Amino acid sequence: MPAQACYFLTWPFNTDMMIGLVGGKFGWELSAAGPDAAVDFALGELRKIFGEKVDQHFVKGDFTNWAYDPLVRGSYASERPGFHGARAALAEPLDGRVYLAGEALAGKYSVTCGGAYLSGERVAGDVMAALGTG
Ligand SMILES: Cc1cc2nc3c(=O)[nH]c(=O)nc-3n(C[C@H](O)[C@H](O)[C@H](O)COP(=O)(O)OP(=O)(O)OC[C@H]3O[C@@H](n4cnc5c(N)ncnc54)[C@H](O)[C@@H]3O)c2cc1C
Repeated sequence: MPAQACYFLTWPFNTDMMIGLVGGKFGWELSAAGPDAAVDFALGELRKIFGEKVDQHFVKGDFTNWAYDPLVRGSYASERPGFHGARAALAEPLDGRVYLAGEALAGKYSVTCGGAYLSGERVAGDVMAALGTG
């Protein structure tokens, strides 16, 4: 049974909302189980923290299915233990013609939008240099 860890972001941007995040194998399982199961799970976790009074305050729950959105298929990249070098391999241009960029290749800024932006900027520079236009 995979770990069912869930952490919550509370009152993001000063809104009356809590966002629960799960990952790994359990994230895939919850995605397959569907929105009702995911909301039930999150409510259960909140009851463990705050007790049954959570139900009085619950208005509506929703679920973003990152795993099965065909244009996302997961979330940000994470390498398996021992495979950190995979990022460097991914950063190598394929046949000197195909260049990859994004958060996975952003070094210490991986997993972030800022990292994705910086990686894109850097790779655009590499492409321009390879074309002799940089
Ligand atoms: C739940 C969650 C919360 C997050 N919170 C934060 C946060 O608070 N702060 C932060 O900095 N970062 C956060 N991130 C991470 C951030 O969203 C990513 O690091 C960033 O979006 C990665 O950018 P990217 O351009 O590398 O990839 P993406 O944003 O994934 O862009 C890849 C694009 O390629 C498209 N695509 C995929 N396959 C194809 C194909 N075959 N043909 C054409 N297009 C294709 C996809 O549709 C997508 O538009 C969060 C991510 C998640 C999932």
